[in-house]
Amino acid sequence: MGITYRRILLKLSGEALMGNLGYGIDPMVVQEIATQVAEVVASGVQVAIVVGGGNIFRGVKAASAGMDRATADYIGMIATVMNAMTLQDSLEQIGVPTRVQTAIAMQEVAEPYIRRRAIRHLEKGRVVIFGAGSGNPFFTTDTTAALRAAEIDANVIFKATKVDGIYDSDPKLNPQAHRYQSITYGHVLANDLRVMDSTAIALCKENNIPIMVFDLSVPGNIRRAVMGESVGTIVGG
Ligand code: UDP
Repeated sequence: MGITYRRILLKLSGEALMGNLGYGIDPMVVQEIATQVAEVVASGVQVAIVVGGGNIFRGVKAASAGMDRATADYIGMIATVMNAMTLQDSLEQIGVPTRVQTAIAMQEVAEPYIRRRAIRHLEKGRVVIFGAGSGNPFFTTDTTAALRAAEIDANVIFKATKVDGIYDSDPKLNPQAHRYQSITYGHVLANDLRVMDSTAIALCKENNIPIMVFDLSVPGNIRRAVMGESVGTIVGG
């Protein structure tokens, strides 16, 4: 089986880096993710990553406790930069060249987000990690993933989750739950399936970007997904 996707946008939530800890970053988990990314980069796949920040700070939660929402969201975006730099370190420890680009300028620690430059890095085989979300409050890193995927012309978004795809009911509660092989954007939106937020899904729909929902904790899953194996559920047109 050949490589199905040449340029991928991997969306990692903050929780994906947290492992079983209640907060923050589990270095072992980050190393495992880096190993999976390194494997596909070695086979010539271009990888861009959008990383969330929910393991450190979530704007909505702080706002519900009384903080100004925009301020809280900016803090959330800054939290994602910590994750981006952690991921960068893990990847570089195993020899994968990377660049972090942030949507809020922090030039001492990362490049600013420059679309054409990001594409150039990818073409040179560097992993580009996008930090600070979209740079705008009231958005999410899922929406950022859809936006960046459209901007860099990614073939697919790999949405890493803790379950191996989308089910018609909760597989933890219903042993008969059925996993979809593929599903339409319309179905996800109409049934309010919690794959990514609706803004992100709508953006993918408009730009025809398929979303592969899969379980990142299974070693080798990024490689399998890149090769077109059915490791999860694909959301498409
Ligand atoms: N955020 C934002 N604008 C963006 C992306 C993120 O304001 O474009 C803020 C928002 O407060 C969010 C936080 O950053 O709660 C962390 O991102 P997110 O919740 O998407 O992370 P994840 O759920 O993927 O860990």
